[in-house]
Amino acid sequence: MKSVNAKMKELGEKRSVIREIFEYAKARSAAIGAENVFDFSIGNPSVPAPDCVNEAIERIVRETPSVLLHGYTSAQGDANVRKTVADYLNKNFGTRLTADNLYMTCGAAASLTISMHAVAVPGEEIVTFAPYFTEYKVFAEGAGCTLKVLPSDKDLLPDFTALEEAISPKTRAVVINSPNNPSGVVYGEEVIRRLAAVLDKKQKEYGRDIYLIADEPYRELVYDEGVTVPYIMNYYQNTLVCYSWSKSLSLPGERIGYIAVSPEMPDWQAVYAAVCGAGRSLGYVCAPSLLQRVVAACIGKTSDTSVYKANRDLFYEALTSYGYDVIRPDGAFYLFVRSLEEDAYAFCERAKKYELLFVPGDDFGRAGYVRIAYCVAPETIRRALPAFEKLAAEYGKGKKQ
Ligand code: PLP
Repeated sequence: MKSVNAKMKELGEKRSVIREIFEYAKARSAAIGAENVFDFSIGNPSVPAPDCVNEAIERIVRETPSVLLHGYTSAQGDANVRKTVADYLNKNFGTRLTADNLYMTCGAAASLTISMHAVAVPGEEIVTFAPYFTEYKVFAEGAGCTLKVLPSDKDLLPDFTALEEAISPKTRAVVINSPNNPSGVVYGEEVIRRLAAVLDKKQKEYGRDIYLIADEPYRELVYDEGVTVPYIMNYYQNTLVCYSWSKSLSLPGERIGYIAVSPEMPDWQAVYAAVCGAGRSLGYVCAPSLLQRVVAACIGKTSDTSVYKANRDLFYEALTSYGYDVIRPDGAFYLFVRSLEEDAYAFCERAKKYELLFVPGDDFGRAGYVRIAYCVAPETIRRALPAFEKLAAEYGKGKKQ
């Protein structure tokens, strides 16, 4: 037996259930043809990146001297890029960010790991609400912390009673994700105000900082008139925003995002320095330099999100009519659906009979549900619907007249 870090070995060997199903989908596609497999397992954007991305890449490659083009930027990211991002956020959200509040990263995953390492020390607690993005546990434990998962209410919004009870003198951060993966739920202004009030109260009670880490890769993916995603640092001083362009510009493989440290936080410079230090310690310095310039050139642009809205409407209406109990998602590109049997794993297995692939909610900390990713071609949904109807019929559900 090789002597290695057993915990890391275990993480490397054990794939997440989502990856497991994604791999199964690939194997099934090879066996029976991709058109016969309905893979709703993974959050890979189906809408292409907008034209500005490739145009920017071509222009930047043509116009930038190669030492600059492929060279290192500052560890925290190119100063002009960070200023462009800060100016954009200030214009849209009325914030007072400067380039010195921003740290460019390899996507939201890096933003989250860096932020957790920056604010917490081993032995402290990081709190989140179920259902949650499963990697939070891996990231928190990687920082030597414990992830405390709290329940949500029936609408999958934070349970504030549980929060008040759970925050302890060991709590260093609360992670929220809105629009949410896996539920698609958006936290409105009232929720954010309540959250900020609880955290402010607890900070005073314990005389220590409690940070709010806002994980926001889906910020722009909201579909209805009147649904807005409050900008968290306008409500709570000790906020770090973890953003990525993986979903908004459909660039998940390009690994580009940022951390914004709120300038309203007293002594924010210390937190920003800790972010730079955590980035250094984790080896997350100098995010891909070409992509930094590309996202700056495309600032404020998004992929055509109307496709996701159409998918959501089609899928939600159809599944509801077949008797499924679906949380109507305001954002992101996932449906969170009540499992038709108690054991969501068994339900996912049964769905495989129809080549329908989706993932159990248990992996997101919420048993009894499944997550269906609708970032797929609309045609895939249309062709999968009869199978969903047959699956519902197996459980005695039928089309509502
Ligand atoms: N946070 C949430 C809620 C996500 O759904 C994802 C990816 O699916 C990430 C973070 C990681 O994003 P990135 O690919 O930008 O690292």
